[in-house]
Amino acid sequence: MEKMDCFIIGAGIAGITAAIYLKRSNLSSILMDKDAPGGKLNNIHRIDNYPGVPEIAGPDLAMRLYEQANSLGVEFTYGSVSEVKKEGDMFHIIADVGEYLATTLIVATGIENKKLGVPGEAALNGKGVSYCATCDGNFFKGKDVVVYGFKDHAVEDAIYLSSLASTVHMLIPEPLETTEAHENELKGKKNVVLHENTKILSVLGEDHVRGVLLEKEGKQEELACEGLFQLYGEKSSSQFLASLGLDTNKGFIRVDASMATSVPGLFAAGDVIDKRLRQLVNAAGEASVAATSAIAYIHSKKKAA
Ligand SMILES: Cc1cc2nc3c(=O)[nH]c(=O)nc-3n(C[C@H](O)[C@H](O)[C@H](O)COP(=O)(O)OP(=O)(O)OC[C@H]3O[C@@H](n4cnc5c(N)ncnc54)[C@H](O)[C@@H]3O)c2cc1C
Repeated sequence: MEKMDCFIIGAGIAGITAAIYLKRSNLSSILMDKDAPGGKLNNIHRIDNYPGVPEIAGPDLAMRLYEQANSLGVEFTYGSVSEVKKEGDMFHIIADVGEYLATTLIVATGIENKKLGVPGEAALNGKGVSYCATCDGNFFKGKDVVVYGFKDHAVEDAIYLSSLASTVHMLIPEPLETTEAHENELKGKKNVVLHENTKILSVLGEDHVRGVLLEKEGKQEELACEGLFQLYGEKSSSQFLASLGLDTNKGFIRVDASMATSVPGLFAAGDVIDKRLRQLVNAAGEASVAATSAIAYIHSKKKAA
């Protein structure tokens, strides 16, 4: 089994940042992701709030990160981690492409979309139901779509879709959690219709979405649309750590100021941790702390050996 100083799971901005720090420390590490490098960056249409990069498309920033890491010698391994066990002082990582032993583990696996679980959602996934406007928005040019959600990324996606779709109905189940700038931009779009206090009860259609059944102020009604962007909520991508008995809050990993978790040698950074703000800039910052903490932990183990 391959052995290393640090195994990093997730190659979003957090994982790539951690890998850069590890590479520059001359310790051995692996960066693994089950998907393309960049993680959620690949779902973002436009980024305006990353310091030093005035306006950039998410996939372009992902490419820059990938190229920077690559030029420093970071190697990406494609694979999906299904389980992590403790073996003495080491972490035993089980992935679909192999098994590994590492002194430290950095978890940077982000979040995934929470399904609503309403009738029609699963059956029509990929047939008009989507969880990513940047990925699928193009299929809905000139059509009517529904965006379901209340958080900042749902607002951003509704703004983006308004440049493609004929009409964007934004169904808002809870008070908006967004910035003033995004809220004003959304409200300024002539083809965006806001439906507050509105919940989706089911997704309608057989071969393709033809509408949603919604509930507003106790009344039910059908709203016709060809696409549903379901952006209601997220859950942490940390299920594969179950056997370690980590301290979490609803699956989000609890860390201290050094990004250390309740399991010695295991550090976490980015969207997967328990925190209030999920943004690129703090994901990268946390990863730099996680990596330097992991480096210090590895040196202390080497010294003690
Ligand atoms: C639509 C949208 C718009 C946004 N806009 C902005 C913005 O304008 N500005 C801003 O600052 N932030 C924005 N954000 C938030 C920002 O994208 C995230 O905070 C940030 O990308 C999180 O990075 P991360 O590295 O923690 O996680 P991610 O980018 O989610 O990366 C996690 C990686 O882990 C991998 N992974 C998960 N599980 C496994 C496993 N078991 N095995 C192997 N690999 C695994 C995933 O494939 C993924 O690549 C937006 C988010 C969305 C969805």
